[in-house]
Amino acid sequence: MSDIIKLLPDSVANQIAAGEVVQRPASAVKELLENAVDAGATKIELIIKDAGRTLIQVIDNGKGMSETDARMCFERHATSKIKNADDLFNIQTKGFRGEALASIAAIAMVELVTKQKEDTAGTKIHIEGSKFVSQESCAANNGTSISIKNLFYNVPARRNFLKSNNTEFRQIVEELQRVSLPHPEIAFTLYNNDQEVLSLYPGTLKQRIVALFGKSYNEKLAPVDETTDIVSISGFIGKPEASKKSRSDQYFFINNRYIRNPYLHYAVLNAYQGLIAADMQPVYFIFFSINPKNIDINIHPTKTEVKFEDERLIYSILRSAVKRSLGKYNFTPTIDFDKELSFDIAPAASGKIINPPGITVNPSYNPFNSTSQYSNDKKKSDFEKHFNRIDAPEENESSTPLFKHDDEEKSGTIPFLHLQNKYIACSVKSGLMIIDRQAAHERILFERTINYLKNASGPSQQLLFPIHTELNSADFVMFKELIPDLKKIGFDLSEFGRNTIIIHGAPPELSDKEIKIGIDKFIEDYNHNLFDLKLQKHDNIARTFAKQHSIKPGKELSNAETNKLVNELFSCEQASVSIDSNNIISYITVDELNKIFNK
Ligand code: ADP
Ligand code: MG
Repeated sequence: MSDIIKLLPDSVANQIAAGEVVQRPASAVKELLENAVDAGATKIELIIKDAGRTLIQVIDNGKGMSETDARMCFERHATSKIKNADDLFNIQTKGFRGEALASIAAIAMVELVTKQKEDTAGTKIHIEGSKFVSQESCAANNGTSISIKNLFYNVPARRNFLKSNNTEFRQIVEELQRVSLPHPEIAFTLYNNDQEVLSLYPGTLKQRIVALFGKSYNEKLAPVDETTDIVSISGFIGKPEASKKSRSDQYFFINNRYIRNPYLHYAVLNAYQGLIAADMQPVYFIFFSINPKNIDINIHPTKTEVKFEDERLIYSILRSAVKRSLGKYNFTPTIDFDKELSFDIAPAASGKIINPPGITVNPSYNPFNSTSQYSNDKKKSDFEKHFNRIDAPEENESSTPLFKHDDEEKSGTIPFLHLQNKYIACSVKSGLMIIDRQAAHERILFERTINYLKNASGPSQQLLFPIHTELNSADFVMFKELIPDLKKIGFDLSEFGRNTIIIHGAPPELSDKEIKIGIDKFIEDYNHNLFDLKLQKHDNIARTFAKQHSIKPGKELSNAETNKLVNELFSCEQASVSIDSNNIISYITVDELNKIFNK
């Protein structure tokens, strides 16, 4: 048989490599921004069109490239940042593999314009799908501009795989946050579809955090500072009350490179133990400075993972640094644990690694799916089961409503027993029926909101004074996408200049205060559901709304309110299963009571 193995042409090899390095527009953004930082730029502009599908351009005022380098930079393994294998363990730059530009040029149309300070003319190069189209000398500013047009134009599978423009743009903003946080000395500007959406001025780290994440961070942060022989730790951690439900706003940087590290994340969580609820996440911006000899950053295609020589030691240094900072600023628990009965805080066991908070939700559970285990037949029989068990007044025995909806407390409403303002109980034929109040209300609000979303029928009330709220740019992008749906459930709101929302009206049952706090909280919970539970948009909105506005333990309800709640619960499509897939209603039967009392 003849020989069959062949070396792949460079263009194909580059395209294969690109699959690893460039998964989406945000990955290309990351590489270009990092190159600009490595080039010593003090001012970097990022220009995006159509979430990076049409254009990603980065303009920097860095050191630029010579004519030869401008051509060389698109070759695979072409880098100015390392020379030999030893250099791999002394990396001071973001890049070192020399494959980003080769990869990007394999899957896009690229235009490079670059000029060094000492040269009189610059160089302009066109390259498409790894093929040089043209090169000419041109007038140019000092520094480099790289435009990436029609990303994935020759890899349709990749192009089709991209998410909505909002999702892709959000990821781009996230990359900008990751690159710009460790470099507050560099000015960054972001343009989206010809509009300037973010400008970051040179300043301190704290100023950069505030510019990226909002003014409220001014009060929310405490510094961390720890220097040892092995590692120096600096940055900021959020005060306990700044904690969130989602894992956004958690940043580790090693030698100014953004990395993920679940192990070190637990060191931080561990330090917060006892200060925040088990389902909350601290906010942190932590920078490690470490001798590059003691780490390996060459273990992940996008270099977002790092291997430490002694991770356990770093774990304990980090934990005590965070603990010390929390102690120094004297944060005591701010949560009223008695009130929030649902919080379950484990006693702080030193040295013990805690497990990540588990999610009890079944994200694939769809209450409206008739083929699910809770089919319509089942629903009906559930309802009948409750009905039959209820020791209801005579007049209710036929087809009249189970409970009378009545605002005055008339005879005919069922007297309920309130347990710790958390459960409600009443006597039914078979024994005792107990309802989880909050779960019941969440179910009611969820189904109602889904219905409003379907029919655009949510009632709305105009506010006396419109409310403005300013969001950070990533949230703003995401929130804009939700405005049409929020209108359907009764919000009257619109964009109001850059990163600001104005609210004119809201569902009538919400107070002004609830609306104002509501938006921030809504975004946080919505993000959590989006990224951690992967919920669809309508389910997510309804769930977030229901969770936010449900009756919480501790609130007193009148008997009329309780009757209304129970009545509405039994009108729900799925009255017995909570939106977290738990029971809403439970029974203690007379048989069970007999057993308890030995009857
Ligand atoms: P790496 O960053 O790993 O070296 P890249 O493919 O990203 O690999 O870039 C290749 C080379 O091109 C870099 O090493 C650098 O010398 C040069 N280069 C890339 N972008 C710029 C820029 N914005 N300014 C100056 N030089 C650049
Ligand atoms: Mg690079």
